[in-house]
Amino acid sequence: MSPANTVTNTFGTSRVAAEPHQYGFGTLAIHAGAEADAATGAVIPPLSLSTTFKQRAVGDFVYEYSRSDNPNRSNLETAIAALEHAKYGFAFSSGSATTATILNTLAPGSHVISVNDVYGGTHRYLNKVAASMGVETSFVDLADVSNLRDVVRENTRLVWIETPTNPTLRLVDIAAVSEIAHEAGLFVVVDNTFLSPYFQTPLDLGADIVVHSATKYLNGHSDVVMGVAATNNDALASKVRFLQNAIGAVPSPFDCYQAQRGLKTLHLRMLAPIATDH
Ligand SMILES: *Cc1c(COP(=O)(O)O)cnc(C)c1O
Repeated sequence: MSPANTVTNTFGTSRVAAEPHQYGFGTLAIHAGAEADAATGAVIPPLSLSTTFKQRAVGDFVYEYSRSDNPNRSNLETAIAALEHAKYGFAFSSGSATTATILNTLAPGSHVISVNDVYGGTHRYLNKVAASMGVETSFVDLADVSNLRDVVRENTRLVWIETPTNPTLRLVDIAAVSEIAHEAGLFVVVDNTFLSPYFQTPLDLGADIVVHSATKYLNGHSDVVMGVAATNNDALASKVRFLQNAIGAVPSPFDCYQAQRGLKTLHLRMLAPIATDH
């Protein structure tokens, strides 16, 4: 008999969740980061367009300036963290901005290992932008994870994987990559855009950061360009939070509001295809 917290995805593979979760996916998608508005009781947090916030006394504020944080973004980030089983969630102005911000955590002279079949925009960023800032990438076929050990260098810092890949749907074993990467002291980033946290929570499998183009399934309505990230690592989270504000590639409150609304139907939109004899 399988343990109570065994989860089985549509590919028929099951795993034991890292910890049993109190609420189901749909409940979290609808309620996480969606506390009723304290001032009015509105059950849907209102759209907050203010760019700047009044201090109750000098230095005493909840929100300060909207690039740094704002109510709609922090609500969405709470929801993303809940769905990805993370302590920290982050939203950015696109999936590409998420990639750029995370890669900015690396110092010049660092080396990255990326799955060779990575999303075209990620490949372009690594090859044309990160490379010009002194971060070199090796693109490796990680369908066979044993290839990973051969390419680790002294200055390797990070392994970037995507599974399944867009658009060729090739798979990488997140747990196996994480184990090898961690032995070598590397961080593992997983682009989880194509499965969404409904089917796969990479942090439970050992990844250090999970990222998404929320433009795709998370928002799900083809009316927002956005990216998100989530992690349980305190030090990494504080670096990403610093860079989110310092680089400033942040989404608007309206986009956050829309994406959070989109999230509420993710579990319905991810349902397995209906049998053809219906
Ligand atoms: C679309 C996509 C991105 C880039 O996201 P944008 O929101 O378009 O910037 C990154 N990774 C994957 C897997 C994607 O499909």
